[in-house]
Amino acid sequence: MHVVWFKRDLRLQDHAPLAAAMAKQQPILLLYVFEPSVMQYGDSDIRHWRFVWESITALQQQLQPHEATFIVAYGEVLEVLAYLQANDAIANLYSYEETGNAITFSRDKAVAAWCKQHAISWQEFPSNGIIRGLRERTAVWNKHWFEVMHAPQITIDVVQLAALTRSIFLPERFHLPQGIQIQLLAKNKSMQPGGVYYAQQYLQSFIRERAAGYSYHISKPEKARFHCSRLSAYIAYGNMSVRQVYQASQQAVQQYPALKKQYRFFQSRLLWHCHFIQKFETQCSIEFNDINAGFQTLNRTVNETYLQAWQRGETGYPLVDACMQCLITTGYLNFRMRAMLVSFATHHLWLPWQAIAQYLAQQFLDYEPGIHYPQLQMQAGCTGINTIRIYNPTKQAEEHDAGGVFIKKWLPAMANVPVPLLFTPWKLTAQEQLLYQCVLGDNYPLPIVDITLTGKYAREMLWSTKQSKAVKAANSSILGKLTIVRKGDV
Ligand SMILES: Cc1cc2nc3c(=O)[nH]c(=O)nc-3n(C[C@H](O)[C@H](O)[C@H](O)COP(=O)(O)OP(=O)(O)OC[C@H]3O[C@@H](n4cnc5c(N)ncnc54)[C@H](O)[C@@H]3O)c2cc1C
Repeated sequence: MHVVWFKRDLRLQDHAPLAAAMAKQQPILLLYVFEPSVMQYGDSDIRHWRFVWESITALQQQLQPHEATFIVAYGEVLEVLAYLQANDAIANLYSYEETGNAITFSRDKAVAAWCKQHAISWQEFPSNGIIRGLRERTAVWNKHWFEVMHAPQITIDVVQLAALTRSIFLPERFHLPQGIQIQLLAKNKSMQPGGVYYAQQYLQSFIRERAAGYSYHISKPEKARFHCSRLSAYIAYGNMSVRQVYQASQQAVQQYPALKKQYRFFQSRLLWHCHFIQKFETQCSIEFNDINAGFQTLNRTVNETYLQAWQRGETGYPLVDACMQCLITTGYLNFRMRAMLVSFATHHLWLPWQAIAQYLAQQFLDYEPGIHYPQLQMQAGCTGINTIRIYNPTKQAEEHDAGGVFIKKWLPAMANVPVPLLFTPWKLTAQEQLLYQCVLGDNYPLPIVDITLTGKYAREMLWSTKQSKAVKAANSSILGKLTIVRKGDV
């Protein structure tokens, strides 16, 4: 029996492990394992697993007419594999390489050791152009990525696959506990649903229609929700390979030449997607440690009051609070607003990025460790090689939510406050507070910090540290390992 172990590759097309297993022309078991240890790790949230569940359900529906089964197990992967091996010897194990968090990395090492012990060949395939074990980044990486993106997609004949697919009885201990099943089945209409079908819908509507406003609205919290592709969760869970998305946008350039600039802009983001994951693949310690050790001297500290106010969206800065409310409810926020949330926490509240990393990961439906950690550190200003940006949330609101539509949508207390007072509610007089039904300290908080002072402090600390010998010394090795994508690469 050949086992294809699905992880963040929940699709049937452009799937190298499936194609390799099918080439053997022997029975195949299609397997996904919900792992308690991974589900309990600090970065995990039920929203992620619901997306996975929906994606698998879609695959099952695709296979059902051909009477083929997709096996879903609950348990630690080693236990599931041991059971399978005991009941129907595993010839080969196939999967994509995963650039995951510390827990999936150590699980993969244990699986590799187990396979070796049982003389099972585990064939892992590179995912989306990421190169395993790469130590140095040169321009060759970009060339390689484009080659992967332009290579033909791998077509899977589903009828043929179904004919090879086998089912297996799993004992009750490997069934999803009822409590978890209920949570997985409870649809959340505020979030994007998982599955290949929805991935296609988002891709097509972006290409045909929404891309027209893409680059103009990418930084605007409300308009970006429509004009950005919204494909991140579908890519993160592999409902589509990056190549499928890239090639669709290449075709779009021919089909709708007027939007060429927008598609190119979009393709540059697809490259970034893989570029960041490659960084993490090269240096996964950045889940815990500063990319540039020279920044350890910053001594950011965990102030619980600040942390909780930020987590709850109760900082007294309307755009920050609206972004957090929106993120908690919908699992999505555009890039600029994610950056601003991190900047506010790490610069204005002087919290260490480590204190906010897992909370944000839980909220992002598209959580991808390989993008999350490098981005978090970039926005926290502790890479040494990137420009330090300390966002002023009031200015961001004036520029990117000029009409206050987004803030009013997510902060009911602000519904009656007119622009521009909406951006600086602490300036409301007592009379205005009553008139607009926004009473500070009652239904909307007073600012927890003065950003003029905190911004000045952060700027001084970050810039002086950036000039330090320790940071400069670390920069050269960072540049070698984690080269930034060059302009004009796409
Ligand atoms: C602190 C922080 C954490 C982030 N964490 C994640 C994460 O866990 N998962 C994730 O997919 N993105 C993450 N991003 C990047 C970015 O915000 C999202 O990819 C983007 O907002 C998703 O929206 P979209 O699909 O509409 O993007 P589009 O603008 O339509 O871009 C298309 C695709 O390109 C990729 N992409 C876009 N922007 C970036 C970027 N700046 N860096 C890397 N890839 C990018 C995504 O796969 C995205 O789906 C993070 C950004 C920040 C600042």
